Amino acid sequence: TCALEIEGLHKSYGDGFQALKGIDLQVKEGDFFALLGPNGAGKSTTLGIVSSLVNKTRGTVRVFGHDIDTDLAGAKLNLGVVPQEFNFNQFEKVFDIVTTQAGYYGIPLKQASVSAEKYLKKLGLWDKRNTPARMLSGGMKRRLMIARALVHEPRLLILDEPTAGVDIELRRSMWQFLEEMNRQGTTIILTTHYLEEAEALCRNIAIIDHGEIIRHTSKRELLQQL
Ligand code: ADP
Ligand code: ADP
Repeated sequence: TCALEIEGLHKSYGDGFQALKGIDLQVKEGDFFALLGPNGAGKSTTLGIVSSLVNKTRGTVRVFGHDIDTDLAGAKLNLGVVPQEFNFNQFEKVFDIVTTQAGYYGIPLKQASVSAEKYLKKLGLWDKRNTPARMLSGGMKRRLMIARALVHEPRLLILDEPTAGVDIELRRSMWQFLEEMNRQGTTIILTTHYLEEAEALCRNIAIIDHGEIIRHTSKRELLQQL
């Protein structure tokens, strides 16, 4: 099964700039996948389109077989997204931010509360459950974004630069958390411009540059050539 299939994906922004020039990408179920590339390569645009935050110009995107054009609800149920920017309500409490998200998926409050507790505990935020988000440190906010993305137990988790600006200690504990999620069956895709991060975590890698995939390979193969 394919967790994510992208075919012929193009994106031109309003100013005519071609950010994606025909991306093809396949990520298998269970994979831990890195989309690598320099700043401005098109990583965020690609993930933005998959998570329907950005409109595509043309091309096909399927999440576990659900086409985002014809079955966006099906795609969304299978997908958790951690964007780069903190986009939660800063005045809302940590626990409520996570359970509110569950509501968007039609998950009953009782079940949402169980799931919120599980992920807030795993991510070391349970003590902060009644704290307004604006009081959290940057690293805590990043983990809150992850807990919120997981509350509906998606089969595919996508993270855009998950450890940007995070100190080395927290980075390692986030890596451990993601590895555990992957071992338990969650397919993970992340973007990074740290080769080190892709090397530590991922089995397969695509390299994107100027809106095109320039390599699509296993980590082992890539490292042998460096
Ligand atoms: P879309 O085609 O997805 O509707 P737009 O081209 O309308 O996107 O751009 C969305 C907004 O982002 C616009 O207000 C645009 O000015 C702004 N923007 C322009 N250039 C950049 C850039 N390089 N990076 C981020 N945002 C930009
Ligand atoms: P990456 O995530 O790899 O750093 P992005 O997908 O953010 O790359 O950006 C790819 C290209 O598209 C960059 O040249 C960026 O300036 C441009 N871009 C991103 N968002 C917008 C926007 N809203 N409007 C116009 N150009 C944009």
